[in-house]
Amino acid sequence: MKSYRKELWFNIPSRRAFINITPQVEECLRDSGIREGLALVNAMHITASVFINDDESGLHQDYERWLENLAPHEPVSQYLHNRTGEDNADAHLKRQVMGREVVVAITNGRLDFGPWEQIFYGEFDGGRRKRVLVKIIGE
Ligand code: ZN
Repeated sequence: MKSYRKELWFNIPSRRAFINITPQVEECLRDSGIREGLALVNAMHITASVFINDDESGLHQDYERWLENLAPHEPVSQYLHNRTGEDNADAHLKRQVMGREVVVAITNGRLDFGPWEQIFYGEFDGGRRKRVLVKIIGE
């Protein structure tokens, strides 16, 4: 069995964003040389997500509005977590809803997606360097 590991680095200038990282994961898969197996892609930070859905700007705006309704950033004083001096309690909650990782089957050297599936990095507390782990195993 072969295994491959890579960290993808991001530095999103805004507080929140959704980035399609499918091309980077496909590049990892090419570099790995693995034709049959599994790819794990996970955010390495507790205020960011990796998830799969459609690459459609209306949907991304809907996510933004929905997550802000669930866990508004302001007022930051509404969260117990922020009594530590942080202001990112909402980002922890948004990450919980949007998930930590995805696992994608690799078939015949390709990410074996369903219709319209793409992999996204969701940033909820940007303005600093953060990582996504790509781990691919198989043969
Ligand atoms: Zn925090």
